Amino acid sequence: MRDDPKRIWEYCLTRLQDKINPQSFKTWFSSATALPNSADGTLVIRVKNLFVAEWIEQHYLPLVSKFVSEVAQENLKISFAYPLHDGTLAYIIPTKGKEANNFKEERGRFLNPRFRFDSFVVGDFNRMAYTAALAVAEAPGKTKYNPLFIYGGVGLGKTHLIQAIGNFIAEEDPGKKVIYATSEKFTYNFINALSRNRIQEFTRAYRSVDVLLMDDIQFLSGKESTQGQFFHTFNALHQVNHQIVLTADCPPEEIDGIEERLLSRFKWGLVVDIKPPDFESRVAILKNKAEFDNLDLSDSVIEYIAHNITSNIRALEGALIKLIAHASLYGREITVDLARKVLSQKRRVSYRGLTISDIQRQVARYFDLQENSLCEKKRTKDIAFARQLAMYLSRTLTSSSLKSIGLRFGGRDHSTVVHACNKIEDLIKRDEKVRRMVEEIRDSLTHGPSK
Ligand code: ADP
Ligand code: MG
Repeated sequence: MRDDPKRIWEYCLTRLQDKINPQSFKTWFSSATALPNSADGTLVIRVKNLFVAEWIEQHYLPLVSKFVSEVAQENLKISFAYPLHDGTLAYIIPTKGKEANNFKEERGRFLNPRFRFDSFVVGDFNRMAYTAALAVAEAPGKTKYNPLFIYGGVGLGKTHLIQAIGNFIAEEDPGKKVIYATSEKFTYNFINALSRNRIQEFTRAYRSVDVLLMDDIQFLSGKESTQGQFFHTFNALHQVNHQIVLTADCPPEEIDGIEERLLSRFKWGLVVDIKPPDFESRVAILKNKAEFDNLDLSDSVIEYIAHNITSNIRALEGALIKLIAHASLYGREITVDLARKVLSQKRRVSYRGLTISDIQRQVARYFDLQENSLCEKKRTKDIAFARQLAMYLSRTLTSSSLKSIGLRFGGRDHSTVVHACNKIEDLIKRDEKVRRMVEEIRDSLTHGPSK
């Protein structure tokens, strides 16, 4: 039976979306489609232009081939097509081969070969975590760091680091059995095994490894039977000094919905955090990425990005990709001016039409408050904080003046708004929780019903 190119490509896109960052996915794959009339044995992917085709070929071909081979029944070649000015299609056929093989080894371990120690930029914000991870990779199960527990906000490098441990061990000592899984995958495997009466196999698979790398452990929250299973896995491995590495978005004591006996075990070894990168580190990361991708970026452009994108490394990468894509697609040189234009676009586009009422409604909902309490005179601590946050969001996400924001929050003075904005900005820098809270509300404003 012939494979259906559309179905294969849909599957491939889903897998890609999982694997690469959202900005890259959008930039390179959002308009890629499979041609229905692919010639025998070839899957033809149609993209916008030659530039995109070449970029995908150079950067994503091994991944694409891997995912295609997961579903296709026949052995498909992959080629790309893009429209010429007169509407006809031009084709490029990749000269692949050796690259595609890289993924064979990692199959089963689910490690992404991109995540390595030598591509990981180290600064004050992540040095502790890096040092501990390297120590563990060099002598798994033999250090005091068992388990090694790494925590930090999104996009700060937890997955990169934990997978770097896996890649390092797999290369140094291919005999060692390493499993990398997110806690969601662990849960899924467990439930699957239960329903198919394969618990023994599941247990054996996870307990027979030398190194267990479990990413995003916070997702075990509230899943009691999975936690029970993980508890036994943990004990079995720890007893025989096999290495366990865990990541989460907050320290053990702050994860809700996880049994005490597990939480206390998480603290048996070493708990380290990764903080948001400081300015110098952001510059270093951008330089590193630029070099990796062979990009010629001036220092002023790099500094511009580093000044303006501060939240995390994934956002830095996203900004860089967006800028490169823009410059290449329109044949422009990358200057600070272009960076300013391209990087400010997102905010304007995605928050367009947002009103102060939208923000008040969403913030009130987030804190479980009556919407009008944000406009009242009451000054209890939590209402005051929610109000300041809403003012800050109004200031940064709408074009309203300080004065009109003050008016909309119960006729307050513009200096009150300034104070609120400064305070929240300061908190965002110092307090990971506040930063995440702001991001969450901001996301809900762009994806939620009010927008
Ligand atoms: P998390 O798992 O904490 O959400 P990731 O590990 O997925 O974050 O990192 C997000 C992106 O940033 C990845 O593409 C990763 O390679 C990159 N990254 C993170 N930390 C660093 C670093 N210190 N040096 C270079 N790239 C990094
Ligand atoms: Mg991660």
